[in-house]
Amino acid sequence: MFLLIMGPPGSGKGTQAKVLARKYQIPHISSGDIFRQAMEIDDVLGKELQLAINKGQLVPDELTNKIVERRLLQEDCQKGFILDGYPRTIAQADALGLLLERLGCGLNKVINLDVDSNVIIGRLSKRLLCKHCGASFNLITNPPRNEGVCDTCKSSLSVREDDNDKTVVDRINVYEEKTKPLIEYYNKKKILCNIKGDVDVVEATKAILACLER
Ligand code: ADP
Ligand code: ZN
Repeated sequence: MFLLIMGPPGSGKGTQAKVLARKYQIPHISSGDIFRQAMEIDDVLGKELQLAINKGQLVPDELTNKIVERRLLQEDCQKGFILDGYPRTIAQADALGLLLERLGCGLNKVINLDVDSNVIIGRLSKRLLCKHCGASFNLITNPPRNEGVCDTCKSSLSVREDDNDKTVVDRINVYEEKTKPLIEYYNKKKILCNIKGDVDVVEATKAILACLER
């Protein structure tokens, strides 16, 4: 199963991607996670990523394509994957299309989580992340069982550096301008599932599965 999940920042795509990865036994490929890992290493690449990400801007297409492609060529991706956060521009979508063609496969479905921008701002300001295992929580919609502690690995939770008010607004604007056009791009290819994303996690999962099994 080759899947892609899209939606504005804070739409819950990472959370849903993890559920789907477990259900279909496919790797969850999050460009944001890959970049955050690379940023932990303080080298030239880490610095270049930091420059874009901490300002709420996109990492340049060429660099993004290269980093994600390297991941998608690994053995565990050959039978399927769920992409989360990539592609984010038409140029990235074209690059992905070419790569998949070369590999002799293609996306089965593209899930689009539709969430109003007012809801997003509220959600992002309440988001907590586990740097150790990548799990994410939300103080309002999906709180950790113990305050400040990851349910999965018991590490302490932190706020993502790019989840501050200023950066959030920039990320939403970038989404509207660069990423939203991909909805029509995949709609034309007749593989788009539009899902209402401003509902709770379990309900959104149900709607996604119903669409995938159609
Ligand atoms: P969110 O979806 O909440 O914005 P992500 O973890 O997907 O969070 O992305 C965090 C940041 O990483 C983005 O704001 C952007 O700067 C960068 N990024 C992630 N994926 C891409 C991509 N495909 N192209 C360019 N930049 C990206
Ligand atoms: Zn954890």
